[in-house]
Amino acid sequence: MANQNTLQSRLHDELTISGARLMQAVEDVTDADIVVRNGLIAAIRPHTGISGSGNILDARRLLAAPGLVNGHQHSHELFFRGRSEGLTLEEWMTSVRPARPLPLTPEDVVVRTQVVAAEALRSGTTTLCDDVGIDHVARPDLLDAVAEGYRSAGIRAFVGPSLFDVPFARAVPFAEQELPRSCLEVPPRPSVDSQVAAFRTFAAGLRERGGLVQAIGTPSAPQRCSPALLDAVRLLADEFGLPVMTHVLETRVQAVGAQRDYGQTMIGYLNQRGFLKPGTSLIHGVWLTRADMELIAASGATVQHNPWSNLKLGSGLARLRAMLDAGVNVSLGSDGCGSIETVSLMPTMAAAALLSGLRGGTDHGVSACEVFHAATTGGAKALGLETQVGKIAVGHRADIVLYRLDRAPFVPLNDAVRQLVYGMPAAGVDTVIVDGRVVIREGRLLTLDEEDLYRRMVEIQTRLLSDIEEAERQATLLRAGMASIRCRCARIGLAELDRVSSGFLP
Ligand SMILES: [Zn+2]
Repeated sequence: MANQNTLQSRLHDELTISGARLMQAVEDVTDADIVVRNGLIAAIRPHTGISGSGNILDARRLLAAPGLVNGHQHSHELFFRGRSEGLTLEEWMTSVRPARPLPLTPEDVVVRTQVVAAEALRSGTTTLCDDVGIDHVARPDLLDAVAEGYRSAGIRAFVGPSLFDVPFARAVPFAEQELPRSCLEVPPRPSVDSQVAAFRTFAAGLRERGGLVQAIGTPSAPQRCSPALLDAVRLLADEFGLPVMTHVLETRVQAVGAQRDYGQTMIGYLNQRGFLKPGTSLIHGVWLTRADMELIAASGATVQHNPWSNLKLGSGLARLRAMLDAGVNVSLGSDGCGSIETVSLMPTMAAAALLSGLRGGTDHGVSACEVFHAATTGGAKALGLETQVGKIAVGHRADIVLYRLDRAPFVPLNDAVRQLVYGMPAAGVDTVIVDGRVVIREGRLLTLDEEDLYRRMVEIQTRLLSDIEEAERQATLLRAGMASIRCRCARIGLAELDRVSSGFLP
């Protein structure tokens, strides 16, 4: 039988995952043989014993679940993980996007991206979206290195450079009054035309090459983009059929800023510009009104919910129950590995389910099943991939994670979905298959030499340390001013949002 000991990380014409316990039964089948052909799930049939020839992966004692979709993260924050706490978003964020970019080589970026990809795969993620802070106009080679990093790791990835033409420090209310002149007078950003042209070249190159790594439009946030830049990205995404993600209403400061800048909510402004569409993700959405939620639902856009990161940066509690009840498609994201130390989606899933229960009244809890749905099919829908990933179903791409059933948290097995969402079984990931290719088997990552990878990562961090420290020192120059801005914004009422207390527990 079975070449089960000779499975290599390559695409098999046909692979049978034999005897897996399905996380969710398919037509009453619970223990199944999943036949994968050319990367697609070709058949799911009841398991009757291991037999036959060809590539057979013995999955008895393993739980088969769809791979997780991490709808939002930032690989460039890797250098900064563990270097801060107790700071709000506005106080912290400029350190991870320094005005003077870190002196990176393409090899540095490949290694950094591979470290992110390895952690994602090891925690059951098979698709991830990276809004990466790179000056892609001056350094397209670094953006290509991000794509190469994901490609070599074997993960499905959507990559976009952070596009913005308003400097970060100028994109907050009261900047002129509260922030030091030296922080406001920074070199101008590249023009809209040059940013969009460079992104077009990147997206076209990926499309031509095909494969698992593709582009995503990533205008950083409405307040950091001129209307011309937002419109240009929208047009390009429509032309190429790309998904789009942009940061929206992560903090109360941003909600106040939107009222001042647009005379309406940020969602109202985006809707007015024709920006909201299926395949468009609004990252965070912590400070959404009911009317905002209804607009988003009607448009078919998605909210990327990042509760684990929102907790670390004190941004507030997004109203997940209310969003789901309004019919909003919700996907989950870890957010940056500097803001929250990890790209694993598992703590995000647990937080999404647990935090929603803190609210009373109509904002009551969200089930593990709803959260798992957001982490899989919700994420797929956000990317326009709902007929391809996020489910173990015939005709879908074979993005499958096999968890050990003889380890915690699955012993004893009562409810696989709840045990996965609340139990966070990253250590129990046995096998990961992406697009039919086995990339992790028996806990071993087959696509990368991890020991060598982590050794090189440490070397790079050591070499860059003084530049990283300088970026952090520059960021501290903004800290007192940002804290004043936060206090000023706290005194400006936000009507409904103050009543529902997005920023505080009831
Ligand atoms: Zn983000």
